[in-house]
Amino acid sequence: MLRPLLALVLLCGCPASHVYPALIRGPATPASVPLVFHDVRVFTATEAGVLEHQDVVVVGDRIVSIAATGGALAPNARLIEGAGKTLLPGLVDFHVHLTGTPSPPWHVVFPDLDHTAHSLLYAGITTVQDVGGDLDALEELKAKAASGQWLGPHFTYAGKIITPDGSYPASYMREALPWPVSSIAAGRFSNEIDSESAGIREVEQRIARGASIIKVAVAQVPLHTPVYTRALLEPIVKAAHARGVRVVAHTDSPEHALLAARSGVDALVHGIHLGELTVEQAQELKALGVVVSPTIDVFNRIQDMAEFKYAPTPLEQEIYPADYLAQFSPAVVRGQKLSDGMMEWIVALQQHAPHRAESVKRMYEAGIPIFAGSDASGSAACWAGGALIDELALLVKAGLPPTEVLLGATVRPARWIDAKGDWGMVSAGARADLILVDGDPVADIAVMAKVTEVLKSGVRLERLRPAVP
Ligand SMILES: [Zn+2]
Repeated sequence: MLRPLLALVLLCGCPASHVYPALIRGPATPASVPLVFHDVRVFTATEAGVLEHQDVVVVGDRIVSIAATGGALAPNARLIEGAGKTLLPGLVDFHVHLTGTPSPPWHVVFPDLDHTAHSLLYAGITTVQDVGGDLDALEELKAKAASGQWLGPHFTYAGKIITPDGSYPASYMREALPWPVSSIAAGRFSNEIDSESAGIREVEQRIARGASIIKVAVAQVPLHTPVYTRALLEPIVKAAHARGVRVVAHTDSPEHALLAARSGVDALVHGIHLGELTVEQAQELKALGVVVSPTIDVFNRIQDMAEFKYAPTPLEQEIYPADYLAQFSPAVVRGQKLSDGMMEWIVALQQHAPHRAESVKRMYEAGIPIFAGSDASGSAACWAGGALIDELALLVKAGLPPTEVLLGATVRPARWIDAKGDWGMVSAGARADLILVDGDPVADIAVMAKVTEVLKSGVRLERLRPAVP
């Protein structure tokens, strides 16, 4: 990572930097002290459903018991009052970029990997899937996490996005970012390939470096840029599958979603945001066995910015500095000039906006698993932590039952990422990745922004910011 960043400084001066607020530190309670969530409602994410008035005991990194309130408690236990609150599994964000930034093209910022990681944990996200990033930096994070030198969510990664020559995301970076930032960013987040054999080589190289998924992009930004053919994509997917690794695709239109799924891709991120998915197309996607992580928030935010009405959520204002958030204010956005190619894409996004939530509902009704994902630090104004919480509310607004949305943000992606894992649910013996929220998220999904406790592998994190008003 160091070399491209150094080049960035040498070639175009220092990108902007910000002073980030301290968010969390751990542990808030010594590991030897048992923790008891007392008289709490539990969203178990198991067949047990939601349980009222429970005592949940955590010892070390495990949940050891869940029982009706009133039983005897260990004398040295630390009691956390849970009345009126809900205990859930730590959230899973299916779509993040740990090594990216949420900055807009007109305000390039150095990534702050610690603040991004802390933001995710602060918002209650204890596991993420990194679907595109700098492989050197991700390997470094993995090593630091393993030796306890990095406080962040559990994570898996894909490494750089494999894409045809001139395709997204390199095409977008060349179009939207100033040179040389554009060429550094394109090289940092994608590899462009010109043949099946080059694609397979990239697959092998990533797997050798610890990638547990492969990421491809079947999308056009700007519109009319080159895109995968099935003849090029299918052998790449087969090469990954032959090595026991699944493939995630960035998609935009129904046609591209179907091209990816027919080529054997396992998960679609960004779902459908250009065009309207028909019931028949949704049924074909279901039959092809894909899961989808729609990221409605990404496109709402871009559109709100373009229409000069974007505003960060209270949680985002708590997590990110005001001078960074201000880069998206109508006053700043009005002063920017985007290229014709980007404007054409944004207009298309606006035209298709009415279908965005409807396509998600159709996929849900067709029986496709819908996983919560945010594109944190991968798209402008997709703030780590806050964007996923917003996405949960948008999925409910799109017509999914809150319970389904919460299962799609916990146990279901957990089992997709780690089929035999013992995490992602609140049950005796499970790894204690837990969050406490103030209220009942099944009755009101907005309370997911009111996290009061976060435990990662049983470690209770001390929260250093005042609670959301
Ligand atoms: Zn992304």
